[in-house]
Amino acid sequence: MIKAIHQEKHGFYLINQNQKLNNSLLKYSKYCLNNTNLDDDFLDVVTQLLTGLKKILIDANLTDSINSEFKVELEINKIPTKGWSIEDVIQNIILNYLGNVPNYSAGYAPLNVIPPPLIPAILAKFACAIINPNLVYESYAGKAIEAEQLAISHLAEIIGFEPKISGGYFTSGGSASNYWAVRCALEKAFPGLGEKGFKAFSNQEPVVIQSVLGHYTNVNAARLLGIGTENVISVSVTPDFSISLPAFQSQMEKAIKENKQVVCIYLIAGQTDSFGVDDVKGVVRICEELCRKYHVPKPHIHVDAAVGWVYSIFKNYQITDNSLGFSTDTLDVIRKLNNLYSSLSYADSITVDPHKHGFTAYTSSALIFKNKRDLLLLQKDFHETPYFTEDIFCSFPGAYTPESSRPGDGPLMILANLYALGYEGYQTMIGYAIQQSIIFQSKLQFSFKNSVQVLNQNVPGTSTLWRFYPPGMEAQEAYNRELLGTSEEDCNFTQKINEYNHNLFAKSKNMRSHNTPILGYSHQVIVNKSGMPISAWKCIIINPFVNILSIIDNLHILLDMVVEN
Ligand SMILES: *Cc1c(COP(=O)(O)O)cnc(C)c1O
Repeated sequence: MIKAIHQEKHGFYLINQNQKLNNSLLKYSKYCLNNTNLDDDFLDVVTQLLTGLKKILIDANLTDSINSEFKVELEINKIPTKGWSIEDVIQNIILNYLGNVPNYSAGYAPLNVIPPPLIPAILAKFACAIINPNLVYESYAGKAIEAEQLAISHLAEIIGFEPKISGGYFTSGGSASNYWAVRCALEKAFPGLGEKGFKAFSNQEPVVIQSVLGHYTNVNAARLLGIGTENVISVSVTPDFSISLPAFQSQMEKAIKENKQVVCIYLIAGQTDSFGVDDVKGVVRICEELCRKYHVPKPHIHVDAAVGWVYSIFKNYQITDNSLGFSTDTLDVIRKLNNLYSSLSYADSITVDPHKHGFTAYTSSALIFKNKRDLLLLQKDFHETPYFTEDIFCSFPGAYTPESSRPGDGPLMILANLYALGYEGYQTMIGYAIQQSIIFQSKLQFSFKNSVQVLNQNVPGTSTLWRFYPPGMEAQEAYNRELLGTSEEDCNFTQKINEYNHNLFAKSKNMRSHNTPILGYSHQVIVNKSGMPISAWKCIIINPFVNILSIIDNLHILLDMVVEN
């Protein structure tokens, strides 16, 4: 038990004479970490917590989603009148509510871009919970503000921005980063928008252009910012999930001719499912040509690299030396990554999520501008923030960040990881994951032959998307028909195969038992020529402990069962 050492002796500076209140105060104030409480007693409860966590990490598995017991708990549970013991809080609250989250550290849940948080990041987060810096303002956060700037400049270096010229801040997630990039784009296109509101649009209709596979957060940005979801122009994609350049050119030209103002071009480097990458350089070239031709201002180019940013760490890997000993196939993928991701530097702003591929816990996400001057467009008026002017400290991110209170853990987690791993560590972890993904894809094809089609084999990274086809069908041929066919029969066929895969996936969920691999499934990884969604199974390998043989074995059991029935 934690003792109230200091207070017991000194009785709260004798302000309080009432014995009942004194006793109660002693009971509860022991939870305050004052100068003396970070000692053996604190270590004791931390040890208790860790012992409990160890047990749930071994036992944890995702059984099903929120079940009916949840409602019962909602009705029964009440805030206690008298506080519980810390042991009970650990057991019945903290461990209880974390008990059936999949253990992402174990490697049996490669269902999405959810990394195992690494120990340096965990320690950083833990320390932030104790010290509790608030990055809104230097007086509240001290040097933690510097940590944020350092993290931004390191991330800028990785994605190819000049660290001294770029600037940015950590947000509450990739979604918020995307919203604020579009907000900045609007302010650029309509100066004074912040003060004048929608009147600043005058008669211009703002539009955003993106690929049809653009992340939904961006459509939501259009909804929130008054652009309107109808004004998000969706451009078709190539079979490699990348925005089609000819289609982009004609859509942008059409928008300009209709007198619309293109405020933002939103591109993706690493789509959530396929990890597809848009050709940023190609889009920027077309965009600049059109702006010159029609004498219209250049839109803001935002790249959502929430998923893909980490692939830029290979740019200084000496492929010919191959000091880490990657396979030839892996080196080919690294070459491809270097080629695709080198064009990130053509963006005006980039979203990066260390909590996706950077091995941090949630949340660690940043919006980075190529030119920190763009931050001025998001600046609030001095008189709107009167209580941040009390002293001489000058660093005040709250002047331009959408959030006011911001924790220090986002920047500190990625810094801790970057320094614990270095370039070499990240290259090792991500390179190995790529290598495992290549092996997984070839095993998938070898095991299921004509019954399986891998959809994103040409997209470099650690994602594998695939579809199963019923016995007797030729997968490659069938997929081509789905992707390119436009007749009603073709669409019905796609619908049928979507259902076939979804039913299989539902069956696989019922088969889950202790530590069976948990795979992902997405209802739309690409759309066909008629705009119809094509779904797929997905496996994202980030964790080095993913057991690809066990995944293949489990899929075999599933398919054998279906064929037998
Ligand atoms: C995950 C993701 C987002 C949203 O980021 P959050 O951190 O979950 O808010 C945005 N874009 C892409 C491409 C993503 O994969």
